[in-house]
Amino acid sequence: MKKDKSEQPLKTNPRVSDAAGPRSIQSVAYHIWEETYVGRGVKTLFKLNQGKGFDCPSCAWPDPDPKEMSSIAEYCENGAKAVAWETTKNRVDTTFFKDHSIESLLAQNDHWLEKQGRLTEPLILRPGEKNYHPISWEESFAEIAEHLNRLAEPDEAIFYTSGRTSNEAAFLYQLFARQFGTNNLPDCSNMCHEASGKALNETVGIGKASVVLEDIREAEVLMIFGQNPGTNAPRMLSELQKLKQNGGKIIAVNPLPEAGFMQFRHPQKPWEWIGKPTELQDLYLPVSINGDLALLKAIQKILWEEEKQYPGEVFDLEFIREFTVGYEAITKELEGCSLSQLTTASGLSETVIRQAAEMLRGKKRIIIAWAMGITQQRNAESTIREIVNLLLLKGAIGKKGAGTLPVRGHSNVQGDRTMGVWEKMPESFMNKLGQAFSFTPPKNHGVGTVDAIQSMLDGKGKVFFGMGGNFALAAPDTEKVFEALQKCELTVNVSTKLNRSHLIHGKTALILPCLGRTEQDISSLGAQFVSTEDTAGRVRMSAGDLTPSSSYLKSEVAIICGMAGAVFGPESPTAWESFASDYDLIREKIEAVIPGFDSYNERIRKPGGFFLPNGSRERKFNTSSGKAHLTVNPLTIQQLPHGRFILMTVRSHDQFNTTIYGYDDRYRGIRNSREVVMINAGDMADLDLETGDKIKITSFFQGEERILEGFSAVPYDIPKGCVSVYFPEGNVLVAIDNHSPESQCPASKYIEVTLGKMPAS
Ligand code: SF4
Repeated sequence: MKKDKSEQPLKTNPRVSDAAGPRSIQSVAYHIWEETYVGRGVKTLFKLNQGKGFDCPSCAWPDPDPKEMSSIAEYCENGAKAVAWETTKNRVDTTFFKDHSIESLLAQNDHWLEKQGRLTEPLILRPGEKNYHPISWEESFAEIAEHLNRLAEPDEAIFYTSGRTSNEAAFLYQLFARQFGTNNLPDCSNMCHEASGKALNETVGIGKASVVLEDIREAEVLMIFGQNPGTNAPRMLSELQKLKQNGGKIIAVNPLPEAGFMQFRHPQKPWEWIGKPTELQDLYLPVSINGDLALLKAIQKILWEEEKQYPGEVFDLEFIREFTVGYEAITKELEGCSLSQLTTASGLSETVIRQAAEMLRGKKRIIIAWAMGITQQRNAESTIREIVNLLLLKGAIGKKGAGTLPVRGHSNVQGDRTMGVWEKMPESFMNKLGQAFSFTPPKNHGVGTVDAIQSMLDGKGKVFFGMGGNFALAAPDTEKVFEALQKCELTVNVSTKLNRSHLIHGKTALILPCLGRTEQDISSLGAQFVSTEDTAGRVRMSAGDLTPSSSYLKSEVAIICGMAGAVFGPESPTAWESFASDYDLIREKIEAVIPGFDSYNERIRKPGGFFLPNGSRERKFNTSSGKAHLTVNPLTIQQLPHGRFILMTVRSHDQFNTTIYGYDDRYRGIRNSREVVMINAGDMADLDLETGDKIKITSFFQGEERILEGFSAVPYDIPKGCVSVYFPEGNVLVAIDNHSPESQCPASKYIEVTLGKMPAS
């Protein structure tokens, strides 16, 4: 029996490996060969991200215009891994669950669980039972109806959405929850870009990127904060290369040096596989964890000093006058700022900050991209508002090659929010929804992810419904989440593969297996397709053509309609059955309720689909003042008690969200293990630690402590006082209340910890 890689000894190699290039092709070949039927796998890769194909189930990186799309391979290594993982030849069927009790499955690691394969039929676990066993779809829906309809009030139910859910399913899902009477619609966006949505809506009137893909190559300078595109949006690297080829410059801001910025080899250009790899970054700023806000203010301070000397040469005064408010307040604040205090708080030297400011000084086409390193902080919104400040002062928004770029991490996370999956949708949306379906949606805001966990812990949340995802692992404060889910009367998970959320279950638990993105979706009226929205706001069609891995599988849409039929009964005024047969009918309703979807069914069938309206892209700022807001944001200096470190959770190159494809973080030179703590070599020496020494990590928050033990110390090029572990393992250290007060986005990148050397075993 081949040894699982996690059983092999930890290997570390400080030399960072090249990003992409031939190694990525080797990795794709390995995963296709290892997981699926090679022919089936390769055939499916030809459809990945193609106009008539299916949208990648991984990240939400924008697809190029169909005219520009590579007809051979419009995907990256991690997109291919996701396809191999979904089209796997492995199955978890009735026999599997007969042989594997919950207890035995709990002892397995998360890679092993998903690697067992695709779910094949609906499964139930009743109170006191030890093994899941099959149940029919009708009985499943009846079970759900029985539990929901006996709740004292609708807010005792919680409907969670992961970013893989299609537009059509997300729209019906929120409709179902609201017709049931609740706005309890937490989603994975609560844990990733919630802070971006809040800060961008306030300042530029829309919570989405203002740039499109083609803007990137036109930028003179692109700054990237708190993001590792080499692993989390790999196709971004080839766009960054085009920017460089057009003479643009890249400033990478990240506590960790990332291979994607340092040494890129284009996987589809063999001539680049030899010789020197492309260094994409022109300037690397190893900021301290959460030092980004101070850095942004310091840059603005330096530019302000220049602007005072050369009025109108540094700041775009014409743009500021016409399109913004708040200039006086912000320049007054910059006047009062101490550059040395900001420099110290950033963890960088004044020299490199001045270098960055100089790279921006005379430029007009500036894009700033960011991801979790910025959003999963307690002051995330303030940092994002400072990002917007810098762009507005430069007039770098709403024109070619300039603007905001919050890079979304999950394929349709933005689409789900656009469809109404949010616990606090605006009244305008509710009114339109009520008109379109002749009912009165609930007025009270619902719970987001953090409050949903608390509601279940308090015994208020009694039914948890997970539309995709792996909530038990994705959410912060793992022990509390486990306790919360196990308190529920019923937990239901719509999934493609076995995962930990099926094992951390309520008194009664259901697993409802759904079709994957790669599979045909045939209804009573024939083949149906769905649609998704990418980071740039492009809505595209997605249609799989593989024979489903089991004849029992249902689409997300069919599952929601089946459930609604059972819960609301035949007297429901909503045509759930027709929706399940004809997705054009769903899109007609979306068109009626949500702005920007005019002629949805016609436009979605066009190659490349269509872009949703985006005011900030046209300098039409839909804010309270009708202008873009320059804002003053406090800089809070955190004084850490002696011996404390700041820990951030990160992803390895061998995972997508909570899906663990393997144990090698190739780009960081870490192999065979995920149980590692990346520590600055100097800090390791101070703590008398050697590579491989076992560590006890204790996190502190509001007087509470959380422990993660037995992880191995690995010296890594990370700023002193900062350490890092992988997500989701590090979630056990994230307190449920350790989040941004503005958006409740968990501060998974800012955890106060101590490190203790454990006695050698
Ligand atoms: S960049 Fe993202 S969306 Fe594109 S293929 Fe890779 S994982 Fe999929």
